[in-house]
Amino acid sequence: MFQPNWDQVREEVTGSLVDLIRLDTTNPPGNEMLAAEYLAAVLHEAGLEPVVLESAPGRGNVVARLRGNGQEAPLLLMGHTDVVPAEPEFWQHPPFAGKIADGYIWGRGAVDMKDIVATFLELLLLFKRRVDAGDPPLRRDLIFMATADEERGGHLGAGFLVDHHPDLIRAEYALNEGGGRASMVGEQEYITCQTAEKGLARFQLEAHGEPGHASVPREDNAVVRLAETIARIGRARLPYHLTDTVWSYITAIAATQPPAVGEAFERLLDAATFDEALAALPVPAQMKRMLVAITHNTASPTILQAGSKVNVFPSVATARVDGRLLPGFDQESFRVELEPYLGEGVELSFTDSGAPLEASLESPLYEAIQTVMSTAAAETVLIPSMLTGATDAKHIVRLGTKVYGFCPRRFDGLDFLSLVHSHNERISVDNLLYGTQVLYQVIERFCSNGY
Ligand SMILES: [Zn+2]
Repeated sequence: MFQPNWDQVREEVTGSLVDLIRLDTTNPPGNEMLAAEYLAAVLHEAGLEPVVLESAPGRGNVVARLRGNGQEAPLLLMGHTDVVPAEPEFWQHPPFAGKIADGYIWGRGAVDMKDIVATFLELLLLFKRRVDAGDPPLRRDLIFMATADEERGGHLGAGFLVDHHPDLIRAEYALNEGGGRASMVGEQEYITCQTAEKGLARFQLEAHGEPGHASVPREDNAVVRLAETIARIGRARLPYHLTDTVWSYITAIAATQPPAVGEAFERLLDAATFDEALAALPVPAQMKRMLVAITHNTASPTILQAGSKVNVFPSVATARVDGRLLPGFDQESFRVELEPYLGEGVELSFTDSGAPLEASLESPLYEAIQTVMSTAAAETVLIPSMLTGATDAKHIVRLGTKVYGFCPRRFDGLDFLSLVHSHNERISVDNLLYGTQVLYQVIERFCSNGY
């Protein structure tokens, strides 16, 4: 039976990540064709037949398939190759040099998500070698997909492929970014598998009032009306809702903490005791904010517009609000929660939307991840998690695919959220190899006949 040479894997996956970081795919403008052509060349060299698809000039996407025996539907390994801008003057090592120092690979994209793209590429190469070595084919096709434009909505990447080339990427299950993140609560390490994603329901608030000279104050001043409403909405705690993912997340943490802390986590499961339990939790403020965000629909005002002359009442004042929905909600049920906060003369209209997502915790893929993690990281606890932001999963689920965010990294003192989109983004070579090893086992268990 084929056994990967992990020393070779370590070198290859490190080399691929360094190469990918050196290709500047800052979005905007993107230029992801650089990465698509690089990946296609590596896949082609390995005997696969990658397809490169350009959605707009320079916006490259690449897809490759390792055929299985067709017994079951494909598994998609989905990644994006674009990155957010970097400000080199604040970095310890240049963001597009791919420098290896202190055991870390430094550069923009090192954790979001050229690291996972390098891992997925390596996995395709490994399973190809395995078949070439005479092992039986997998039960499922493995599809590798690396797309453009995720950081700006994914319409020229995953969205484009779903709309124009669905047969290339249609799969029953997908592995994506968004999970595998390690964190500590007290003394216990946890690693997430992302099973849910909040949806988008951005809206605009428009307040109206009579225009006129500001020397005589008016009770219907549009600026004041808008200000009152956005202050109420911005401070509002909308109703509490518990999803399967968050129930399991909190329950798993509660069960693995010292009794007093565990009980406080358990009291988060009840709307009546949530606030008091949250206040008592010995966790950082950012985790408390996150616990609120994953149990509530939220609305954060971010853009204001009104008036052009200081002595004139504007007839209209507008605000843009970033609204986020829990699984199970849509614009209309969200509007019902917001209505009590709208003041007189203020109208709400939705602008952008994206459906919230949740995948089952009882699927064979989730079970394979659980089983592998119980031996690959016996002392850590796997917890399902909900992302408050959106990934390309929102496009892929339109094909009926069940998407899980998982590429595990051990806790090494660096918090994922302090690295992503930040200065000095980096990943340890050990962690890059670790994620590749774990996912090799997950795919072996999930897709091969050996089990
Ligand atoms: Zn990303």
